[in-house]
Parts: sequence; structure tokens; C-alpha cells
Amino acid sequence: MKTRHPKGLIVLFFTEMWERFSFYGMRAILVLYLTKETLGANPGMGWTDTRALALYGWYTMLVYVMAIPGGIIADRLLGQKKTVFIGGVLIAIGQLTLVMDSTVAFYTGLALIISGVGCLKPNISTMVGGLYEIGDPRRDSGFTIFYIGINVGAASAPLLVGYIGEVHGWHYGFGLAGIGMLLGLIVYAWGQKYLKTVGNYKPAKKIHGTNKHVPLTKIEKDRIFVLLVSFLIVIIFWAAYEQAGGLMNLYTKEKINRIVFGWEIPTSLFQAVPAIFVIIFGTVVAGYWAGRQRKGKEASSLFKMAVGIIVMGTGFLMMSGAALQAATGVKAMLIWLILSYLLQVIGELSLSPVALSFITKLAPVKYASIMMGIYFAATGLGNKVAGLVGELATHAGALQVFTGIFIFCLAFGLLLLVFFKKLKTLTHGAEDIQEI
Ligand code: GLN
Repeated sequence: MKTRHPKGLIVLFFTEMWERFSFYGMRAILVLYLTKETLGANPGMGWTDTRALALYGWYTMLVYVMAIPGGIIADRLLGQKKTVFIGGVLIAIGQLTLVMDSTVAFYTGLALIISGVGCLKPNISTMVGGLYEIGDPRRDSGFTIFYIGINVGAASAPLLVGYIGEVHGWHYGFGLAGIGMLLGLIVYAWGQKYLKTVGNYKPAKKIHGTNKHVPLTKIEKDRIFVLLVSFLIVIIFWAAYEQAGGLMNLYTKEKINRIVFGWEIPTSLFQAVPAIFVIIFGTVVAGYWAGRQRKGKEASSLFKMAVGIIVMGTGFLMMSGAALQAATGVKAMLIWLILSYLLQVIGELSLSPVALSFITKLAPVKYASIMMGIYFAATGLGNKVAGLVGELATHAGALQVFTGIFIFCLAFGLLLLVFFKKLKTLTHGAEDIQEI
């Protein structure tokens, strides 16, 4: 059995690490920049919190929704490899446009980043799948490694870009995010020699002299149906998980006792905790599932996703614990928050890299990129729903919202466990491993 991964994985790992550095770095300072007053040191845009959060919600949704046109461009015109490169160039230009201090430059920069991420994010993920043959047992662990790369970028960016942006000036922060993307492009260009066989454009078969896409078979239709169901799981998952940047962040600031050995930890630092947990536990969680599979126990993607959503939901039960303690008039213990993030990340690791891998196993080749695009659009919708749920907390109360999220995730996960075997038959053995 082959255990070493193809060299192309390293190239995609570092390209995506830098793209995520750029993305999460800019995201970490966006709301702070928008809400900072227009006069004084390091001036911002002087927006209200509500206006800034609204733009943030639209931005985080649109970057992922644009993955649909990004996927179509790859499938129909350019192939994934070229589309990723164009995406990286657009992101870098967009981030560097934000260095300029003008409203026009600001909106132009955002539009360029949104289009760029749409071209890059889904297609680089599909390319990871393209490194492995059908039935290759290394595929899932390849995606876990790739996912760790994402989170190396996501963990370091808020610390570095956040520091430069807040202390030295927002526009330097945006500039640093742009430099990150340029480094990603350099890695990608250098690594082309390891990517010769993946992400190339495959023209549709010629039928009666014109380019027509061949009709889908029954098996392909069933598989697409299963993928669409899994996208529903994904919307619910991210709608809960993405509370981290909003409600959980504000709750940490106001209701969690952040003093450790006499030092009050700044709230923003906790934003790096989930990504750090992914780096630490990525291979542990993947190893656990691989071990189960070796023992012949249930470890299909749909099963992992159902368990993932339940475990992530349990993380919100920890926040209910914090809210109950805070209701007594004291600040809640930090351990609630840490346990909450830990459970959320264990859930994430059972679902998110698994979903990426699953799509590359199930999607018909000619629709590979567009299916990945729809997946990311679903995560974008999840982000938007997360914002709406977070807003609800201001009326309904944090305890009710945290407990509500837990109950909803538990119920949905259990429902999936009831139906996953039925869904699995509709995959027609797409997950069967072949020893190679
Ligand atoms: N955190 C992961 C990333 O940035 C997943 C994001 C998502 O699927 N919306 O790639």
C-alpha cells in the first residue's frame, strides 16, 4: 500500500496556507477598521457596529457564493489549475488595493477579493482530490493534511495581520495580507512541475459536431442527490460553528473570566484557538476514524458527518454551562470556552475535510468543480445564517441560543444516523477503498 503522498500535495498545501493567511488576516481587522473613528491615530471608516457587521456578513457570504461561478469557469473554460492562478492574482491585487486609503479603493478591493476567492478556493480543493486515483486509501488523509495547512494560515494571520493592522496601521495590515497571497502564488508557480496531471481542462465530448455535455447516468444522479443532502448538513454545521467570530467572541469579551495568572488575555486572541486545535488534533481525529475503518466498523463519510455535527453541537452545551454560571452574577470559567472550542473542532475535523474528500469521490468528473462550488456556497449560506442566529441572541438571551443550537444539532445528527445507511446505498460504492 502506498503511504507517501504525491508531491503536488505540498504545493497545494502551501498555496492554500498563504491564501488563508491572506483571507483570515484581512477578515480579522475588517470590522475593527470599519468601526474605528475617522479622526485620531490609525483612523478607520467611522461606521456603526450594526453597519460594519452587516457588511461583514455579506462579505463572508459572498466570498463563498462566488465559488459557484468559480467552479463553472473551471469546468467549462479553463480547468481548475488556471482558474486557481487567476484567483490568486485577483486576491493579491484586491488586498494591495486596500492599502490605498479611499472609499473607491476599499470597495474595489473587496470585489476583487470576493471574485478571487471564488476562483481559487473551490478549485484548489478539487485539485487535491485530483492527486489521487479512484479508491486510493490516501485520499482522506491527504485532505486532512491540506486542512491542517488551511489552519496554519488561519491561526497565524489574526496574530500577525491583527498586530500590524492595529498597532502600525490598517493599510499596512491589508498590505501584509496581500504579500501573503503573493507568496502563495510564488509557491504555486514554482510547484507546477508537480501538478502536471491535475486540474487540466477537459473539453466536453463532441456530439454531432457541437460540444455537448453527455447526459448523467442513474448512478451519477443518485450520487448528486446524496451530495445535495450533505450540503444541507454543511449549511447547518457552519451556521452553528461560525458563531465563533460573532456571538462567541462578544460573549467571551463580556461574560468569560479571561484572567490567567493575573493577566487578562485579550479577547481577539481566542479567535486563533479553534485553528490551533485543528493543527493539534487534525491527525488524531483522522487517525481515530481510519482505525475504526481498519477494524471494519462503520466509518463512512455520512456517518462521520452525522457524528461531527453532534459533537460540535455538544460544544454549545458547554457554552450553556458558561451561561448558567454567568447568570449567578460571576464571570464564567474559561474552561467552558476552551472545552466548547475543543468539541467544536473535533466535530469540524469529522466533517469538513471529510466533506471535501467526499465531493471529489462522488461528483461526476465533468461537474467536479461546480459541485465543489455549490459546497462552498452552502458554507457561505451557513455563515449568513450564523449572523442571523447571533443577532437573535440579543433578544432571546445567550443561554437560550446556545442550548437551542445544541438541541438542533443533536436532533439533526440523530436524524442523519437513522437515514445514513439508506443514503449510503445511493453512493453506489463510491467510498470503497481499493488496496493499491
Ligand atoms: N475553515 C475552513 C476554511 O477556511 C472552512 C471554511 C468553509 O468551509 N466555509 O477553509
